[in-house]
This record gives sequence, structure tokens and C-alpha cells, in this order.
Amino acid sequence: MAGHKHKDGIDDISWFDNLLLEVKKVAEPIFKENKDDFLKNMLETLSKDSSECVLMNPKAPSKSIETSCHHRKRGNILFKMNRLDQALEEYTKSVAYAPSGSEECALAFANRSAVLFKCQLMSDCISDIKNALCANYPDNLKAKLYHRKMCCLKALNPRDPLINKTLAKARSLVSKMDQDKQKAMMDVLDHETRNLRYPREKINCHNWNFEDTVPAFDANNPVVPGFCDAIEMKYSPQYGRHMVATRDIKPGELLGLQKPYTRVVADHMRYKLCWHCSKQTWSSIPCNTCGEVVFCSAVCRDEAHKKYHYIECWLMTALLAYDGHTDIMERFIFPLRLTIMAYKEAGNSMKVLKKNLETVDAEKDPMKKGLVNGKFDPSKFSSIYCMESTPRSDDFDIILFTILHSLIGGFLFCIKTGLHSTEENVPIKLNTLMNDNYKFIIEFIYKNMWLITYNSSVVQLPNGSHDIAIDVGSLMTPGAFFNHSCAPMITHGNFGEYFTTVSICPIKKGEQIFESYGPILQDESKVERQDLLKTYNFTCDCNACKYNLEPLFLDDIQSMVTPKELSTIMKKVERWMVRVDQVTEELTSYVKSNNRKMDLSKDIKQVIKYVEQAWSMFPQKNAFPVLEAVNKLQILLTMLQTPILCLD
Ligand SMILES: [Zn+2]
Ligand SMILES: [Zn+2]
Ligand SMILES: [Zn+2]
Repeated sequence: MAGHKHKDGIDDISWFDNLLLEVKKVAEPIFKENKDDFLKNMLETLSKDSSECVLMNPKAPSKSIETSCHHRKRGNILFKMNRLDQALEEYTKSVAYAPSGSEECALAFANRSAVLFKCQLMSDCISDIKNALCANYPDNLKAKLYHRKMCCLKALNPRDPLINKTLAKARSLVSKMDQDKQKAMMDVLDHETRNLRYPREKINCHNWNFEDTVPAFDANNPVVPGFCDAIEMKYSPQYGRHMVATRDIKPGELLGLQKPYTRVVADHMRYKLCWHCSKQTWSSIPCNTCGEVVFCSAVCRDEAHKKYHYIECWLMTALLAYDGHTDIMERFIFPLRLTIMAYKEAGNSMKVLKKNLETVDAEKDPMKKGLVNGKFDPSKFSSIYCMESTPRSDDFDIILFTILHSLIGGFLFCIKTGLHSTEENVPIKLNTLMNDNYKFIIEFIYKNMWLITYNSSVVQLPNGSHDIAIDVGSLMTPGAFFNHSCAPMITHGNFGEYFTTVSICPIKKGEQIFESYGPILQDESKVERQDLLKTYNFTCDCNACKYNLEPLFLDDIQSMVTPKELSTIMKKVERWMVRVDQVTEELTSYVKSNNRKMDLSKDIKQVIKYVEQAWSMFPQKNAFPVLEAVNKLQILLTMLQTPILCLD
């Protein structure tokens, strides 16, 4: 757990740990006695007697010259060592923490522009130089920066009239430099002037800001916007709400192109991706208030601020200090995001918010629950709120942290929205805070945590590693009630602001469509799979689990097909193993050197044929050529996404 000392000597960790112990004392016996009404009973007890439960109202977030300098210096060391990716991240932190318009801010942008220049990301470099010059960049260093800008312009377009102007600007600033550096700079600029008269070949430059082009798609589903009408939602007591095919579906069909309700960036990607749109960004700009997030553009920054970050910004610094867990975004920030957005949607009124939630809760028909004007509206919280959120964990430690986060998150939320008024940095007894609004918000955040546990989707992007993809964040989309199977029939992807759903095997009309919540038949044993599914607290009854099916290997399948069929399919198995490995390995370096994504359309077409062939050859879908083919299609679809790139 991370923490920092307050001025008056009270340690964040000590009060956090103290609160944890005190809440545990109260909560554990209540939890053991009655799990169903547990939260209400616990809040009741806490409001009566919680003399030892103390919360701290943290200081407002602020930028810090000290923190900014610290990261810039680390960036300098890494840059000298040529560890460019880490240097970029340190400089980005330096940009984020520097007070707006300060000299530190300018220095951070300028130093980052040196990394970008070295990586030949010229447009991003120019953008950082502009930001450095807009802030308070020291006059004696400006000549060097204009020279760098001139080099970028020249690389982008040797005939750009701005080149001469920028060179002249650099010249005019040489006299401001330290005396001992003027001569060397003049020589450099003279050299550039001579070169300009005889322009040589175009200098190589990179641009890795990809705009994902969304495929043509008819999102004509009448109930779930963003889906086509090849699927529909159904309800049964056994499966709850689930998705069924309304016609035969081929492998590789795009079934959904949804805009998520909202998304969060994983903690380890916070200084690489735009906090609002999740795009990898090289010349990011900071939040105006906190140092915790960066954005790809002023448009994203302003939209995030308007929609949720105006409250979140204030909460984040405090929350990040309380908790050093790696999944803090999913467990702590994401539920608060939902809370803020629902509150904002209710016109910042607790009364309206309560009424909105009651309306959804009151709807008992599962086919209508959460519908807004007959649809799952991706912009309405009701369409998110209607999803499964009943706490089903027996693990008290998980429950305890969920409660603690709700207490603290709710407390901060109430302060920021004016529902509580307290002084900064003063300990407050929990029982004095327990009014109806606070209790309501605690229960609401608690529910949102379970909503996210059961319903959020993890965004996984290729990054050139052997693991195929890394988790970069999570998102929530309404109306996609896909149940889990250890033999999934669809996969998801991220395209720009959209979340896609694509079939990976043939699906028959009337069949229920399953996705995997993590484990799959060919990678884990039944015991391992059920262990991985514990979070969701259900027993998987997919065919593989129900009938204890294991993948069928060569010995098992030999008798099922003719030798000729076997040799045909085995050739494909081998060929695609090699090809997909090759794509996985080369993807990021291809993107980096060609400044465009790999064209995998031919590969995907062929793999779809391979899936269809294997599928029709083996009625047993656990035959390994079938599993292999489906898996290869899924990997290639993953590789279609914009990868996360590394500068080294
Ligand atoms: Zn953005
Ligand atoms: Zn902020
Ligand atoms: Zn299963």
C-alpha cells in the first residue's frame, strides 16, 4: 500500500489500516450471520457505534514542481542510457505533474520532444515543442528548440516555407544563449542554411497516430444498438438474459460495433494512453488540475472533464495514495466513474438519481429491465444498471475491501459534491457522517463494484509479446448479455471508440451465443477453469464442463476421418501455426517501420475457410484441429487492432 505523510504527522497508511481493522471488527460477524442484508445491517451498526472508525479528508489535488522535476531528471538518465520508452513515460509524468504554464512544464515538454525527435515522430515532436514554447520556456534554450523544430519540418516536407522562418527564428535567439554555446550553435545553423540550398533526399519520419477506420456495418438490432439483427436477447430461468442467433452465422462475421458507456485505462497504461479515448498517445497533454492522467487532445480533455473527470480528478489523487494495488482502476476508479456519470445524468440531484434507480429496480420483467424507449441505450446509466450486480462472493476479504472502497469513495464523492462539508486534512469519525445520502452512495458504489466485476470487458491489445496481447483497460457496454462457455463462439476487439463482437465459428440459427470470461478448453483443465471463474461465482455447464470433455488429439481423431482428410487438415494446422506465429512476431515492428497497420484481410479470409473446413470435418468440436482453427482466427482478429507500440 502506498501512502504519504501529512504535515501534521498523521500517516495515510495508518488511518487506512486502522479503518480496515475497525470495519472488519464490525462487518465480519454481521457477514457471517446474514449475507443477504449484510450491507444495510452493517451501515446501521456503523452509524450507531463507530467511535474508532476515522476517515481523513485529503488535500485537494495539485501539481507539484518537485514531482515534475523528479520525473524529468529520471527521464534524463534514461534518455542518456537510450531507454527511450521509459524516458518518454518519465517525461510524460513530468509534463503531467508540472503546474500549468510553468517553466517545469516547458522543460518537460521540451525534453520529451527530444525523445520524439530521436524516434523520428516529427509531428508529435513539433506538437511538444509548441507546448514548451507556449509555457515558460527559458530564452537561453529557445534557439536549440527552434532548430529541432526546423529539422522536423524539413523531414516532414523539405519545401515547407516555415523551414526558413523557423531557421531565422533560431538564429535570432542565438544571442540569448550562454556565451560559450553561441559559436557552436551558429555553426550548426550555418550548416543547415547551406544544406537547405541543396536539399537532399527526404528524411525518414514516423507517424504512429492511427485513426481506426470502422468497417461498413448495419447496426440494425432493434433492441441492442450497435448490434446487427443476427442476434437477439432472450430470457430463461436457467440462463437469465442471454443472446441467441436469429439466423445461421458464419465465422468472422461482425455482429456488434458498440460505443461503450464508459471506459477506464489500466493503471500501468495511465501515462501512455489517453484517459478519455484510450488511444496510445506520444505527445499527450496533461489534465489542468491533477497529475494523474493525460489526454491525446484538448477535445478529449475537455469532454472527459465535462462528463466525469470534474469530480474524478479530485478523487483520484486521494485514492491512488490509499491503495497501491495494480487493479485499482477496475476496483476503485471504475465504480466511482459509474457513480459520477449516473449522478451527472440525474442532473446532479440525489433525489432524481434515487428515482432513476428505483425505476429500474421496480421493473420485474427481465426482457424490459433497463430499456430506455425500448432500447439498451449506450448513453444511459439505466441500461448499465440493469445488469447483474448481486454480490455472490463468500470470500470475506474481497467483501471487506469492497466495503472499505465504498466507504472511502462515497466519503470523497460526498465532499466533492457538497453533500458533506468538512475541513481539509482533519480526521472525521465515521458515525457522524452516516446520513441517508452517504449511506445511499455507499450502497450505490458497492453495487457498481459488483456490476463491474460481472459485466465489464477487458480491452486487450497486441504489443508484440508472446502473450499475444496485454490488458490496457476495461469498458462497459449495455445489452451484450453473452454467457460464458469454455468453448467461446465470439471474440471482442477495440476499434477507435468502438468495441466489436465477431463470430469465430459457425453458429446455427436458434443456438445460444457464448463468449469466454477467461478460461478456454484447450488452455486449462476443468479444475483450473472453474477456479478462474470463481469471481463470477457460477458453475460452468458448457458441454466441455458438463461431460468432462478434453481436447481430442491425433490418436483420438485418427479414426474419425479418412487418412486423406486427416492429412489435408493437418497441413492447415501446421501452416497456420507458422503463419500466426510470424504475424504475432512481426506485427509491431511492421507497424513501426511502415507507419500503417498490417493488412491481414487475406489471412483472415483463408483462416475462416480453415475454420469452416475443420468444423464440417469433425462433429466433435473438441477435436484439436477445430480448436486450433478457431483459436487462430481469434488471434488474427486480435492482431487487427491497433497495437501498443514500444519505442525501444
Ligand atoms: Zn483521446
Ligand atoms: Zn485531473
Ligand atoms: Zn465450461
